Amino acid sequence: MSPKTKFIFVTGGVTSSLGKGIVASSLANLLQSRGFSVTIQKFDPYINIDPGTLNPYEHGECYVTDDGAETDLDLGHYERFLNHPTSQANNITTGRIYQSVIDKERRGDFLGKTVQVIPHITDEIKYRMKLLADSGKHEIIITEIGGTVGDIEALPYIEAVRQLKWELGKDCLSIHLTLIPYLKATGELKTKPTQHSVKTLQESGVQPDILVCRSENNLGPDIKKKLANFCNVQPNSVIESLDAKTIYEVPILLKDQNLDEVVLEKIGLSTNSKPNMKKWIDFLERHKNPSTEIEIGLIGKYVELKDSYKSISESLIHAGAKCLSRVNIRWIHSENLTRDNASKALEGLHGVIVAPGFGARGLEGKIEAVRIAREEGVPFLGICFGMQASVIEYARNVLNISNATSREVDPDAKNAVIDLMADQKKVINKGGTMRLGACSCDLKKGSQSHEVYAKTTISERHRHRFEFNNEFLERLEESGMIASGINPETNLVEIVEVPSHPWFIGVQFHPEYKSTVVNPHPLFVSFVKASLTHKNS
Ligand code: GLN
Repeated sequence: MSPKTKFIFVTGGVTSSLGKGIVASSLANLLQSRGFSVTIQKFDPYINIDPGTLNPYEHGECYVTDDGAETDLDLGHYERFLNHPTSQANNITTGRIYQSVIDKERRGDFLGKTVQVIPHITDEIKYRMKLLADSGKHEIIITEIGGTVGDIEALPYIEAVRQLKWELGKDCLSIHLTLIPYLKATGELKTKPTQHSVKTLQESGVQPDILVCRSENNLGPDIKKKLANFCNVQPNSVIESLDAKTIYEVPILLKDQNLDEVVLEKIGLSTNSKPNMKKWIDFLERHKNPSTEIEIGLIGKYVELKDSYKSISESLIHAGAKCLSRVNIRWIHSENLTRDNASKALEGLHGVIVAPGFGARGLEGKIEAVRIAREEGVPFLGICFGMQASVIEYARNVLNISNATSREVDPDAKNAVIDLMADQKKVINKGGTMRLGACSCDLKKGSQSHEVYAKTTISERHRHRFEFNNEFLERLEESGMIASGINPETNLVEIVEVPSHPWFIGVQFHPEYKSTVVNPHPLFVSFVKASLTHKNS
């Protein structure tokens, strides 16, 4: 571990969903903009080894890193705010901690000892908390602790933070995020829940150094003073976090209250260099002052929980800002789309995205959405299952293979234009066994994808078990759907497009995982541009 590494822990109290991930990302962004190298990691208290097996309804999107980790969606925020890739080491769950301790026990590493939560589990947590410091690449590591202080399952993590604060002294800082509710009836902001939450932390031996208080209204000096008094923090360390119009404003709101400066002073780092937020502010200006707007249909089966498509909706924001356009999303449930109502449901859209997904439910609706976009010349972007739906649609309605489908929905299919990948055939375990992470892809010269990326080899992240069935390639290409991106090692088709259509691209990978504020993804930018053209045509 580099002796210089500083550790900042972010815990949450009062309720869940206060936006710890956004606060952690925003602080990281401010410190990075002062020239510090920063990374963020998240420790999740649930027993799953990773969120890959979780239903999106439970936990929102599963985010995938370059090295193939299936992670919490907060890692997407970390990458979007820092423009820097995260990895397997950036997201740890209780399941993973226990698995590794139990593996060690079986190997005999603790021979003779009783293996206990303290010290064995907490040692493993501490080891993982410090792991990213070993590379020497990061001066500051921000660790978000999932869940809410006081939860039984969060206790070993809080205990690990207590021990680290003791061991690391000034190199370690604790930020506690809470909620200050506003009582309309009396017109008052209430500090009691925060006082209790801090007390709970203190009972575990952790004194927060900084309080970040989510609130609908300004706290004002009196409330800040009261909080400082009751919670043993300095008044300049009570930071308010008001509901922002966009999450991308949060770094600026926190900077206005000098959060970065307070943090740097407490961990003993120089405050000489001022934050260079130029690119960030440029983006915000463009995002908040669009000159036009478009409406994009997002067709998926988890649309009731918009977090299931977090990276896609954020990618559209990045691309919209680049094109000076507001991008409104019409969320369309794929299960409700039929041959009869699809045209009406998609009426007036300037672009159509068919989302990733798993299983038969909603697939027919996705295929209908592809058909409308294809037949009516509406810009179309199919992502993963959305790409697969586009191949099925083309095979059925252009090649007239009426029973074309995916092996995923019909294991006995005669015409599986989408088939199980060869190396998936023997896979039994569900967790972490898909084709995951970054793969390279060669783009066909002169294709639309080639033009979009402006290079011939790209690397994108994957998460799937099924693939384009190359047995159908020739027939599809003869009838106008071409494979414009191929994996050079496996020959798998990664991109399909229809050159006779104004903009029709299906990608087997997930471009949305790689779009960031300062680096909007070229596919989304091109798709938004095409949608603007479609609107004006
Ligand atoms: N269900 C499809 C597969 O496993 C697509 C997965 C996805 O959309 N991420 O191949």
